[in-house]
Parts: sequence; C-alpha cells; structure tokens
Amino acid sequence: EEAALQRLCRRARTGKEPAAARFYREEGNRRFGRCCYGAAVRLYSQAASHELPGSPEVSLCFANRSAALFHLGSFEVCLEDIARAQSHGYPDRLLPKVLLRKAECLLCLGRLQDAADTLATVENKITMDGVMTSPTHQTLLKKLSQLKSKISEKESCPEPKQEAHGDTQRESEIWEENGSISGASSSLSLKFNTERGRHLVACQDILPGQNLLKEEAFVSVLCPGEGDSLLLQDSSENTWDTQVTNADLYCHRCLKELLASVPCRGCSYAKYCSQNCADVAWEQYHRTECPLGALLLTLGVFCHVALRTVLMAGFAEVSRLVEWSHDDDKDLCNAEARHKHPSESLDARTGTKGIPGCNDNGQYLSSYQAVFNLLPHAEKHCPEHKFLCMLSVVAICKKMQEAGLEAAVLNQKSSEKGSDPKLREKTSDELSPELKIMAEAMLRHVLQLQCNAQAITIMQELGSGEGAVVSKKPVRLATAFFPVLSLLNHSCSPNISVSFSGTAATVRASQPIPSGQEIFHCYGPHRCRVRVAERQQLLSQYFFECRCQACLDELESDDNSVSVRNSFCCPSCQASMQGEDVLSCSNEACALSVSRERLLWRSGHLQQQMKKALELLRDSKADEAIKMLLKCQMDAKSFLSPEHLLMGEVEDHLAQVYATLGKWQEAARHLERSIQIVERHHGPSSVEMGHELFKLAQILFNGFAVSEALSTIQRAEEVLSVYHGPQSTQIQELHEMKTCLLELPRNILQRT
Ligand SMILES: [Zn+2]
Ligand SMILES: [Zn+2]
Ligand SMILES: [Zn+2]
Ligand SMILES: [Zn+2]
Repeated sequence: EEAALQRLCRRARTGKEPAAARFYREEGNRRFGRCCYGAAVRLYSQAASHELPGSPEVSLCFANRSAALFHLGSFEVCLEDIARAQSHGYPDRLLPKVLLRKAECLLCLGRLQDAADTLATVENKITMDGVMTSPTHQTLLKKLSQLKSKISEKESCPEPKQEAHGDTQRESEIWEENGSISGASSSLSLKFNTERGRHLVACQDILPGQNLLKEEAFVSVLCPGEGDSLLLQDSSENTWDTQVTNADLYCHRCLKELLASVPCRGCSYAKYCSQNCADVAWEQYHRTECPLGALLLTLGVFCHVALRTVLMAGFAEVSRLVEWSHDDDKDLCNAEARHKHPSESLDARTGTKGIPGCNDNGQYLSSYQAVFNLLPHAEKHCPEHKFLCMLSVVAICKKMQEAGLEAAVLNQKSSEKGSDPKLREKTSDELSPELKIMAEAMLRHVLQLQCNAQAITIMQELGSGEGAVVSKKPVRLATAFFPVLSLLNHSCSPNISVSFSGTAATVRASQPIPSGQEIFHCYGPHRCRVRVAERQQLLSQYFFECRCQACLDELESDDNSVSVRNSFCCPSCQASMQGEDVLSCSNEACALSVSRERLLWRSGHLQQQMKKALELLRDSKADEAIKMLLKCQMDAKSFLSPEHLLMGEVEDHLAQVYATLGKWQEAARHLERSIQIVERHHGPSSVEMGHELFKLAQILFNGFAVSEALSTIQRAEEVLSVYHGPQSTQIQELHEMKTCLLELPRNILQRT
C-alpha cells in the first residue's frame, strides 16, 4: 500500500515547478492585458509561489503583481510588492519603471516628500545609465516629468485632510472574564457529571446577544477548498489550472483574506498574508510540514490537524501527557476490574484528579492539556477506521524519519536541550521511541477530531462582487481544535451562535438563557433544515443519540413540519405527495406515483441549473441568467411545494440578478418572497433571516426607497446584532446606510 500512497501523493503537487511559474505568469500577463487586474494578481501570486526565493524570476512576479495592484488602487500593498521585488534582486536595468510606479503610489497616498525623493533617485539612475535614445527611455522621461508636475501641483494646493474616520465611538460590550475558564464570560460555570460529561451552565441570567466566549483556536488548518476534487482526477503531467481555491485566498496561518500573498520559501502550497506570518508558521510547524505537503494533502485535513497539534505543543509536553495517560490507563483498568462500568470508573478518576483537562488549580485553559483531554471515544470507533487512522499516522512519522526531520520535530521544542542527538541507523524501519510517542498522540488527536473538530466558517462573497448587493454563502475555511468551545454539548435547537474572525471564535447567546440552564451548541444541521430521522443519522458520527427537546418533540408529535415544508408536489396536479420510497399523489382522482429517487434527481438537476445561472451572471450575461432562472422557477413549481427552500433560493438569485442590473424594485419584490420562505424555515430571528434582511436593506437603500429601507435596516440590525455583536462590520454598514439616508437632502427625496 506504500506504492499506492506514493501514487496518490503524486497528484497533490506542492513542490515548486518552474514550468508552472511560467504558465501562471503568462496567464497573468494575459489577464493584465484584458484589464482583469484582480485575476492577474492571483495568477502572479501563483507564479511567485512556484519560483525560488531570491531568484530574478520571483522578483519579476512581484513587480508584475505590483502593477496590477496599482490599477486596483491598493497602493500600500503595491509599495510592499515593489520592496519585495527589490529585495529579491530585481534586475537593475528595469528598475526605473518600477521606481516610477513607486513614486506614483506615494503621490496617490499623499506622501509628497517621499514621492519627490523617489523621483530624484530615478532621475539619477537614468542619467547614470547614459544614452537614452530607446523609445522605452523616452516614455520613462515623459512619465517622469508628468509626475514631477503633479507633485508640484499637489504641493501648491494641499487637499483638505480627510477627517479621521475611526472616531465612531464603538459601544464597548459588557465583558467580565471568567477566572477559571479561559476566554469565557463570568456568567458561565464548568460542570461535570457522568451522564452529561463536562458542560457549561449559565450561573446568572444571560441576555440575547451577550458575549459568552472568545477563543483563539489552539490549532487550525486551512481546508484546501473546492478545488481539491482535482486531486482525484488523473491529470496529465504538465497541466495547471487557473482555478482559485481557499488555499490561494486565505493566509495559511491566520486565515486573513489574501491580496498579495507571500509564498513559502520551500513549497508552492503554503501562502501567507505577510512575511511575519510566514516566519512564525515556519518556526512553529511549517518547517516540518513543508516537505510533507503532498502527503498531508492526500491523507486529509484531520491528519494534518493532528500533526500540527503535536508540533505546536512540543515534544516535552506531548510526552508528559502521553505518559500520564499510560498511568491513567492503569488506573482505569483497576477501576474497571472493580466496577465493570467505564462510566463509574470515570467517576473514580474525577475523584482523584478533578474535572479532566483542568490544571492543578482547577482552571480550564485553552492549552494542550485541555486538547489532550478531549474525548477520543477510542472504544466506539470501528476497528477498520482505527486501523486506517493508524496507517496514516505511521505514514507521516515514517516520512518524517526518512526526510531527516526527526531532530527538528524533537529538538525544536523539547525544553531540556540536547535530547540525545545520537544517530540512528537510516535503514532501520522501526520508528524511534520519541516518534512513537508523537505517533500515539497524533492517533489520539485524529480520533478526537471526529467528535471535536470545529469547522471555521465564513460568509464568502458569491458572484462577481461588482454588484451593489453582495450575496454571501457560508464556506468551510479551516478545521480546528477549540478546547473551550468543545465543552459545549449538542442540541438541535441551540441557545448560542458561533461566529469566526480569522482563527478566533466568538460565542453569543441567541436567546435569553436563565441562570442554571445549560449552554448548547449545534454540531449538526439545524432542526429547521433536516428531519429528525436524518438529523439523528448525521449526528451518529458523534456517538450519541440526540435527546434534545427539539428531537423529543418531533419524535413524539410525528407532525413533521420540516418534511411538510420541504416536500414535493404532484407534477401533474400540484397536490401534495406522500410516501417514502415511492410517493403517490394525495389527490385520489389523480393517483400519480413517482419514486423518491426520481424527485431527488430532479431537485439535484434544478440546483445545477441555478448554479449555471449564477455563472452566467458572473460572466456579465445577466439577461441569459434571468431567462435561465425563470425556467428554473417554472420547473421548481412543477414538483416542489410552494414553501420549499429551493423555491426561496430561486427568488433570491433572481433578486441578485435584478440588483446587478440596477432594477431595484424587481429585486426587492423577489427578495421579499425569498424572505417569506426563509422566515418560515428558520424563524424570524434566525441568522439566515438576518442575512436576507441585510440584502433587502441594501437593495432598498440603492433604490432610494427611504422609509422601507429604514425599517428594514432596523429589523436587520435587531437580528444581526444578536449573532455578530454591535461592533461587527455588518452592523457598522447598516449604521452607515442609516446615517446616509437620514442626511439625504430633501430634493433627492422628492425626486423619487
Ligand atoms: Zn497571516
Ligand atoms: Zn512550505
Ligand atoms: Zn436533537
Ligand atoms: Zn396529482
């Protein structure tokens, strides 16, 4: 199976390939020529990631990218790239052109003295270079004199300084930190019992929107994103595609959105928002991960998280806890012999050691100790799964040993220096005792992840991004360990919501929580979206049967409101359809029957068509997109119930297209229909509702429908502040819209 793994790894390319660099740079030049500067920036970034650091080629990539950034108006980032090009040995003869760009940037930023200094350097350089008869030199000189006159122009009439923008006094939130749970509010307390395990309970009354927890991920790994399906295709040796994935869009360390990425010095995969992130990531984990890139991509994100976890913790801490767990296992065996009941033995354990994961002072910190104590449920995984996990972990450790990374893995972190650097026989197939400890911990983490992995999601913008209304959908960005967030038990109707910013999670109450009540997080799909039977099926990966109030109510009442809302209707007479595998029309006179499979195929097809319509919109073919969506709507009506979520989605997309065309009234009409459906499915104060209201506010704002806009802004604000807090960008944007509307001069109001 080693050969098979190697073959698989060959499809995931993380090495630097000069031919790929050439391909991406040419593609970038092509986009640049067509004035698609955003795409050009991304392609030059791809090219840079395939060039060797310090080579003239990589400096050319940065210089080209700086030109595209200049056109995008990102002057600060443009300056950074120019500096980067220079530090990587940009060819001297080409320098004047780049320096002129630098001067122009400085001019745009209002830094006149710096701009003048840069121009002086260029002038010197050009005269030093001597004869200047070539046409390029002539254009350079022309540009130079243009810039000089611009500077003197600006100097003579300085622009009024823009008022400091950040003076909006942001309401500070009430926040009192918990003394014994790191990052948590003092309104929570940590409880433990054998039935519910560890859990958090409100120790005072909590208001909706109140901040309950702010936690930085102990470790997080960026998910490669949708493009990773490509890894499964057999691609011929020399093709690269220009598709953009999460791996190109977000910093591999801090998850910040990338504009001009800094490539890793060793691989073409890792990209960072800044040199600092690149350096810190290298020190903490990437020096070990870099040569393993393809293997980690092939084995999947759980293995990658497990490896990064032990690298972040360091060998000393890992071995301390692994040894401790061995002692504990002995205790457990004794206890089990006595009670024959693992839950009771757990009790015995807490008797001596307090709540698992807490330190000696009884504090629960966001530490490796807490991560180590998350439940691996080792006895509940099926043997095949455990075996596969073990093979993966061993493959990683063997590769580390082969690549001579062992010293880096162990020395870099171990607190006591000089942990015997004795040379081991290279031919030995056996893992060293230290790597065996690392492997044991990694296996534990892989198993833990099945129940404890937290997805970091963000709302990603869809479509061209050039429309006035931004449509967003939640996207899984990374997989992470959040030891404190992991304390929350599950309910299908949770009383909190979680949002992410970079690698930090914020938990807010989504409803009033009286003192004494447990805090619940929803691990799976919300009860509005999925029927109880399917929900329980999905939750089985967490090794429990959900007995939350929502599930109990639904199981008991049998009135399945979700399935009624998301049901099919008869393609012939539009009456409702009933049945499981084969559905029959409820209208006796009709009696048509169709297989569920067929209906599911139709809704799958419908979703594909809708996706195509959005692609048309992205290619600025709005008219065709509308035609396609109207066809989708006709099709949907013929077999879906009027309240089906997909019916709402079609309306939502139609609204988006009309908004792109500036037809605000039509857009608002469609969006209002989508909102009705969303409200029925998710409830009037759900986060989904908040996002729909936000879009409607934007549309009404753009269409100058002042009073409707104001009342929609009000509603959106009420809902969204519960989920994202008063300081979130969405709330700020709503405030700006409101201020703008209230300040509108009367004459504009009368015109509409
Ligand atoms: Zn970063
Ligand atoms: Zn790397
Ligand atoms: Zn439930
Ligand atoms: Zn019928």
